[in-house]
Amino acid sequence: METVEVFDSPGKGRGLRATKEVWAGDVLFAEPCYASVVFDSFSAHVCHCCFRRQQKLQRCGQCRFAQYCDRTCQRAAWEEHKQECSAIKSYGKVPNENIRLAARIMWRLDKHGDVMSDLQLTKLNDLEDHISDIPEIDLKELKVDIHNFLDYWPKTSKQHTVDNISHIFGVINCNGFMISDHKGLQAVGVGLFPNLCLVNHDCWPNCTVILNNGNHSAINTMYHTQKRIELRALGKISVGDELTVAYVDYLNLSEDRKRMLKQQYFFDCTCDHCTNKTKDDLKMGGAVVDGEKVPDEKVKEITKYSLEMLQKMDKARMDANYNEVVKICRECVGKQENVLADTHIYQLKMWSTLSEVLSYLKFFDEAAVYARKMVEGYMKLYNPNNAQLGMATMRAGVTHWQAGDIEVGHGMICKAYAILLVTHGPTHPIVKDLEAMRLQTEMELRMFKQNEYVYHSMREAALTNQPMQMMAEPIEEGIKSLFRKK
Ligand SMILES: [Zn+2]
Ligand SMILES: [Zn+2]
Ligand SMILES: [Zn+2]
Repeated sequence: METVEVFDSPGKGRGLRATKEVWAGDVLFAEPCYASVVFDSFSAHVCHCCFRRQQKLQRCGQCRFAQYCDRTCQRAAWEEHKQECSAIKSYGKVPNENIRLAARIMWRLDKHGDVMSDLQLTKLNDLEDHISDIPEIDLKELKVDIHNFLDYWPKTSKQHTVDNISHIFGVINCNGFMISDHKGLQAVGVGLFPNLCLVNHDCWPNCTVILNNGNHSAINTMYHTQKRIELRALGKISVGDELTVAYVDYLNLSEDRKRMLKQQYFFDCTCDHCTNKTKDDLKMGGAVVDGEKVPDEKVKEITKYSLEMLQKMDKARMDANYNEVVKICRECVGKQENVLADTHIYQLKMWSTLSEVLSYLKFFDEAAVYARKMVEGYMKLYNPNNAQLGMATMRAGVTHWQAGDIEVGHGMICKAYAILLVTHGPTHPIVKDLEAMRLQTEMELRMFKQNEYVYHSMREAALTNQPMQMMAEPIEEGIKSLFRKK
């Protein structure tokens, strides 16, 4: 590969570094998926080939498990599904997603061998499996998975040692990459990208990784299936700099990030932001009212109260009881106001949920108010080129557009477009959507400036057709952790 090389990163094991100077939005490498499976919970809702959510899917006549958009997707997936299909038939049931993924990886290894190519920077065998770090309780689960794997694995396929099998399970355990639906809004599966496993973590990274699920608008469904990730630079990277991505969302406090990283990836984060607890004070801070800081005591009390309300809210949300969600959020933001800083993460979380759910319930004006507060808070915390910031800005832009505030709406959509162009790249479906929104809101803004009356009547019509609705139902926060959470 031309732009990256493997090296020994001090204190971190193997890592990747740049061999060429790159700038924001440059792609350091793209990597096709080695193997992937749909989550157990989504196996009836997304195509097992292109991972697109579909109302109507066609079932594989053999195993009755795999489902596809159409025959083209089925044919494209056959190479990966063939052995799985007959294994499921003779096993008599469908094993869980871990086992299905491990088996797909093993079949692929058996067919092609564990060779490195110019594009593959590591052997699967050389990847970390952290088996010795796994706590006792999880180890039990792993043993059950391996036991079931051995029952599922066909006698006619090549046989492997338990050590080899547990290595693959270990690799999946810490490096199973979340695969989103085609718009990147929801995680629907898990896959393995060997090169990506070499990219180390930093809480304030210089790269981001984005899944591009292929071109879903193409008439020819063959183009739907080219699942690949891109490692994209967030800013200038010089020759020799280590490339890093964030495994966990920066919006967590440093101690929480450290705990999550230790639990799932088995290392102690020593990045600058963790060492200096950078921005922790903002994330837990109190408001300043009339030049006076709110007493710590009060901030602590409302912080504790907010945490309880967040748990209540999550539960109502899981039950899809959106009126209850709104009730809880409204009550909570009322208490948070003038006590918590506008960057306090519990307040941001409430604003984010409230704006999302209100907009789903079509209370656009109120939704827009909270969406704007959320984005302004995020801007003070996140790296200016953070993908989460870009997605939140897009959502806020759409909400303002829905509320009829075309000037702010257009401004936010332009801002989101600029961020996602760096983090997602110009060919990503969501950026294509944004481009269309940018053009439409630009046209509307021009019309608004010429004649407000014509603008408002046109907007009514547009809202009825709902060309900009992004999601049918509010969904949990999008995707905030890179690898699959246990
Ligand atoms: Zn499909
Ligand atoms: Zn089948
Ligand atoms: Zn850190």
